[in-house]
This record gives sequence, C-alpha cells and structure tokens, in this order.
Amino acid sequence: MASLEGIQSKTQEIRDLTRMERTGAQSHIRGLGLDDSLEPRKISQGMVGQIEARRAAGIIMKMITQGKIAGRAILIGGQPGTGKTAIALGMAKSLGEDVPFTMLAGSEIFSLEMSKTEALIQAFRKSIGVRIREEAEIIEGEVLEIEIDKSVQSGAKSGKITLKTTDMEAIYDLGQKMIESIQKEKIQAGDIITIDKASGKISKLGRSIARSGDYDTVGSSSRFVQCPEGELHKRKEVVHTVTLHEVDVINSRTQGFMALFAGDIGEIKQEVRDQIDTKVSEWREEGRAEIVPGVLFIDEVHMLDIECFSYLNRALESESAPIVIMATNRGMTKIRGTNYMAPHGIPLDLLDRLLIIQTTPYNEKETQQILQIRCQEEDVEISDKALKLLTKIGMETSLRYSIHLITTANLVAIKRKSPEVDVEDVRRVYGLFIDIKRSSKFLQDYQSEFLFYEADESTDKDV
Ligand code: ATP
Repeated sequence: MASLEGIQSKTQEIRDLTRMERTGAQSHIRGLGLDDSLEPRKISQGMVGQIEARRAAGIIMKMITQGKIAGRAILIGGQPGTGKTAIALGMAKSLGEDVPFTMLAGSEIFSLEMSKTEALIQAFRKSIGVRIREEAEIIEGEVLEIEIDKSVQSGAKSGKITLKTTDMEAIYDLGQKMIESIQKEKIQAGDIITIDKASGKISKLGRSIARSGDYDTVGSSSRFVQCPEGELHKRKEVVHTVTLHEVDVINSRTQGFMALFAGDIGEIKQEVRDQIDTKVSEWREEGRAEIVPGVLFIDEVHMLDIECFSYLNRALESESAPIVIMATNRGMTKIRGTNYMAPHGIPLDLLDRLLIIQTTPYNEKETQQILQIRCQEEDVEISDKALKLLTKIGMETSLRYSIHLITTANLVAIKRKSPEVDVEDVRRVYGLFIDIKRSSKFLQDYQSEFLFYEADESTDKDV
C-alpha cells in the first residue's frame, strides 16, 4: 500500500496536468450565486436567472452542510441547455474548492470497457474525497554535487537530476516542480538548500560557509567547506485532498499510478478497495484524514438500466455516499431493461428518494446575459449588435449553439484583423455551422437517400 506521502505527491502531479484542461463550457460557473440568506442574486458567480431552481438548490446545500441529505439524491429535470449541469457544478463549487465533482453521462456506462456496476463504483469513488492532513518534512542540507541531464539543460520538461547533499545521497527522477526550482534558483554545488518532501520544491538558503580544517573539492573550484549535518529542519502541516478512486488506482498492483495519466484504468479488484477502506478508516481514527463527500452528477439518467438503478439505490445508503445529482430531459419513458414506463424512466423506489428540481427555458434577457458572460470568459470583444443577433439565434435555435458560435465568430473576426466580433462574423459562422433544426430538416428532406433512417421514438416524450 502506498504511503500517505506517496499518494499526495503522485496525485498532485496529475492534478496539475488535468486542471489546465478544465476550461470548458462551464468554466464561468463559480457557485450558485446565492446571498447569505440563500436567496439567488439575479447575476452572480457566473449564474444568471433560473431563480426557482437555484433557490431549491440552495436549500439542498443547507441540508448537505447540516448532514441531512443521507440516503437521498437530487433530480434536475428540464429541457436541454437550461442549466442542469451548470446548477450541479454550482453546487459542487459552493461546497468548496477541494470537493470532488464527477460528471458522467448515462450512456457512457455502456461504452466503457468494464461492467456497468464497476463503472458506477468508480464514478462513486471518484466523487468521494479523502482530506489528508500531513506533517510535511523539510530537509536542509548542503548540495555537494549536482549533475543535470542534458535533456533538462536543453529545457525539456522532464529528465534526471542527480543531487548529492549532506543529508541524503539520492537520485531523483525529478518532477516538474523540482526541476523548475533548481533552474529558477540556479542551485549549484556548495549551496545550502531545503527540500520540501511533500511538494518537491527546492529552495536556496545561501552558500556554505568556508571554515578552516575541512577541505573538500566540490564542483569546479576547491573550497573549504563545513558540511553541516543534514537535519530534519522544519515540519509544517499540509492539507491535501485526493479521491478514493485515486487511492484505489495508485494501490492497484496491475495499474499503478501512471494509469491515471493514460486514463486506462480497467477494473479494480474488490479486495484492493476493501484494503483501502480499512486503511482510510485507520487514518480517520488517527485524525490524519477525513472523508469529504463530493458531488456525482449523472446526466441523461434515463439512459441507465434497471441494474444500474438498483446499484444506485443500494449505494445511496452508504454512510460516505457522495451527493448524487441526476438530470434528465425526458418525461414518461421506458425504464431501460424492462417493459415498464415510468416518469423520467426511473423506477418508482428510486424516484421516491429523489428531491426534484425543475429548470425552465430562458427568456431573451437572460439568454443575452449568459452569452455576455461567456464572451467575457472567452476574452471575446463583441459589438452590441452582434450580441443581439447571437441572442436572437440562441432564442430560435438553442443556447448551446449560440455559445459555440462565440468561439468560431471570434476566429473569423481575428482572421479579418478586427478587434471585436461584429454582425458579419456571426452571420458568417451561422452559415458555416448549422444548428440542429436546419441539420434535421436537411436530413428529413433527403431521408430516402440515407440507408440508416429508421427512427421510431414514439415511446419517448420530451418534458
Ligand atoms: P443538457 O440537457 O443538454 O445536458 P443542461 O441543462 O445540462 O443541458 P448546461 O450544459 O448546464 O445545460 O447549459 C448549457 C450552457 O449554458 C453551458 O455552457 C452553461 O454553463 C450555460 N448556462 C446554462 N444555464 C446558465 C445559467 N443559469 N447561468 C449561466 N450560464 C448558464
């Protein structure tokens, strides 16, 4: 089993990489935008309108923080693009930055190379955080010798640095942080350094003091050095949150932590999970760790089948279950894997546990405000007229389509060397990229020429 320290440093490397990729469609959502009495502000934390749904979400937040949510889950029902995902993310953000948020589309469960329940278990464990309190060690010592791999000297992001200090003689396959700090602080032989074992950061304290008596030849010049005894210099508390899934993967003998980079996890043995649960409860008893229930958002929940629903029913009972938020845009539809119809395609026993929130379509003003926030988020200057046109398009097609047009219209504006997006750019991309209505009309007009046409959706009704 990997040590607490090992888990911390490995997951940090992965976090640093994944965080960079997370500027997606929801990057402007920073919370639910509520005031202290949990009333939604009209525009706040990137959130616009949807007042009733946000008010309901605020009450649920209160229940979560008071620990009154156990065994229940939330269902957000509403048409596509009405902010179901945005509200779920807003809830996760208001719970705190280190609260894990996992998103899963119902249909994904069937496309992963693992059983449906394994995929659900992994999603659950990705949404449960373990907040670890660690005393980080900082080691102080003098650099005796430093040898830097050619690839690092030429600016490569990884490579080998051999560092001999009075405290330890070690060869590190150094992480980016260590390499950066060695280069930034221009660390050389003869420097007194500290190494933060938790973050890998190396800092320079100064040069060693030459004293008579001890003679050494270090680096290129001969000097007198007094090699201070390496000592455990300081201790500081570091708080770090990892997910149970990350701990599983790191400890899984077949995978190893590199699998977190590759995303190629496969199934994890139940015995590994049992061992980890035991270890984590030991850490909790010793006061070194606490469980942080995060948010698991399951979109298109009507795509799950009866087996998944019965797993969910059971998993919600668990003491450390995350807050499960489901979303659907279906009304009455068949429960997958059965011949029964049910509201939202969800079995009645699970429905009974759900608190249901409804989202409603946006009016013109709200649509314009959301588009304006997205423009700011994407650093796009847009003229009033172009924003109005984009809003009109959003109202007639979909909000998501008009959000997509912001990025593309901006590229067109840049191409014609204009500092801001104008009406002509929006028109141009509206012609280049068609929305669903125009696309399906095209398909309908030419359906006889498409061999795969066999739609029969008579059993599904939209909300
Ligand atoms: P679907 O049913 O298709 O999954 P959805 O209801 O989950 O859709 P979102 O993905 O949340 O809709 O919304 C579409 C886009 O509009 C996102 O970029 C989202 O951030 C933005 N958006 C939706 N509602 C709001 C809101 N109230 N305030 C700010 N942005 C919003």
